[in-house]
Amino acid sequence: MLKIKDLKATIEGKEILNGINLEVNPGEVHAIMGPNGAGKSTLANIIAGREEYEVIGGEISLEGEDIADLDPEERAHRGVFLSFQYPVEIPGVSVTNFMKTAINETRKAQGKDDMTAKDMLKMIREKSELLEIDRKFLSRSLNEGFSGGEKKRNEIFQMAMLEPKLAILDETDSGLDIDALRIVANGVNKLKNKDNATIVITHYQRLLDYIVPDFVHVLYNGRIVKSGGKELALELEKRGYDWIKEEVEA
Ligand code: ADP
Ligand code: MG
Ligand code: MG
Repeated sequence: MLKIKDLKATIEGKEILNGINLEVNPGEVHAIMGPNGAGKSTLANIIAGREEYEVIGGEISLEGEDIADLDPEERAHRGVFLSFQYPVEIPGVSVTNFMKTAINETRKAQGKDDMTAKDMLKMIREKSELLEIDRKFLSRSLNEGFSGGEKKRNEIFQMAMLEPKLAILDETDSGLDIDALRIVANGVNKLKNKDNATIVITHYQRLLDYIVPDFVHVLYNGRIVKSGGKELALELEKRGYDWIKEEVEA
C-alpha cells in the first residue's frame, strides 16, 4: 500500500530524514518509535504532504501511484489520514456536522454525490456504537472545552467515518493519559481490517500495551535503524534508547 524508498528531507536547510525505507501492506499495523527529535513527526507530516518540509530525494507511493507531488487534500482523498496533533476549535459546529461536511467534500473530490442523509445517519450510528461514543458527545461543538480524552475520541471518530486506507497517528508530544491511550488503542484495534493499514507513532511503549503492532521500527537520526516485531517495543521499554545509539555508532 505505502512504499517509501530512500526518503531524504530537510527543514530550513537542516537534514532531518536521511534515507527512510518503509513498506506497509494492507492489514498491517506498524509502530514507529524513537527518541525525541528523531524525525518521527517529520516523517508523518511528509507522508501526509504537509508543505513546510523539503523533500530532497527518494520516493513515496500509495497503491503504486507516486504521491510525492500531491498536496495534502489530494492525498487525503486517496485515503491518507493523519491525526491532528493540534485540533482546531469550531464553536457552533458540532462533531457530527463537521464530519458530514468533511465526508461530502471528500466524496465531491472523488467525483461522487453527497451521501444521503439516511446513509449518513446510519454510518454515524454504526461507527459511534462501534467506538462506544455517546450521542451527546456527537452534538457538542467541535473541540470546544474537550478534554485530552475527548479530543482523541473525536479524532478516532473522524478516522472511523473517513475509513482511510492508511491512517497515521502521531501521539508523541501529546502527553496522553491512560484513558486517552485506551481510546486510541481500542479505535485502532476495532477499525483494523484486511484492506487498511495503520502507522502508530509513539515515543512510549505504553500505547503498545493496547495496540499490538505487526512491526516495530526504531527511527533514530532520520533513519530507521532497527525493525522487528512487538518484542522490540518491549525491549525498548526495558532498555531505553541508549543501546540503539551505541549499536548505530558501533
Ligand atoms: P520527533 O517527532 O521524532 O520528536 P521531529 O520530526 O518533530 O522529531 O523533529 C526532528 C528534527 O527536526 C528535530 O531536530 C526538530 O528540531 C527539527 N524540526 C522539526 N520541525 C521543525 C521546524 N518546523 N523548524 C525547524 N526544525 C524543525
Ligand atoms: Mg518531538
Ligand atoms: Mg514528534
